[in-house]
Amino acid sequence: MAPYQNLEEYNINVTNEVKDRFSKIIDEIGEDVNREGLQKTPERAAKAMLFLTQGYRQDAEEILKSAMFKEDYDDMVIIKDIEVYSLCEHHMLPFFGKAHIAYIPNGHIVGLSKIPRIVDVFARRLQVQERLTHDILECINDTLKPQGVAVVIEASHMCMMMRGVQKQNSVTTTSGFRGQFEKIETRNEFLKLISSDLS
Ligand SMILES: [Zn+2]
Repeated sequence: MAPYQNLEEYNINVTNEVKDRFSKIIDEIGEDVNREGLQKTPERAAKAMLFLTQGYRQDAEEILKSAMFKEDYDDMVIIKDIEVYSLCEHHMLPFFGKAHIAYIPNGHIVGLSKIPRIVDVFARRLQVQERLTHDILECINDTLKPQGVAVVIEASHMCMMMRGVQKQNSVTTTSGFRGQFEKIETRNEFLKLISSDLS
């Protein structure tokens, strides 16, 4: 994928900086950074961290604008079960799950693949699930200016599952609604459609 290669080619100094710090962390937790299995770990971890935070260097609005088309369609468009992988900003541990997004066009539609792409742009940053939900919602609302937009995210948080309260099966749901989706009937239709198995 292009963004990953770009990072490797153009941000090598950043990678070295981050790499040295990962090396220190490994040392501080009591490991031997020179042990065979760990020799390349600081570099791999640095690259992974830069990959997982590449959203800071991407513009979600531009991505949407690059694939907006005039169209009279004005029924609900739903993209459900979009995979979400993000990092919680409190512990820098993953949270992951699914996003369900709908909008009602207002003269313009957007290429369907762009919606999951902007989910990634906002998810690949240090996030809280609440802000991630709103970032996606506001971006679609401001750029596409639809009659309405809805975002629901269901996610499990590793910081809860592996540490702290160790609640392994809890799922956090967040949602945001704008425009037509603030009406209870429209919102219910959306919620019914994302919870059905027919799609
Ligand atoms: Zn956390």
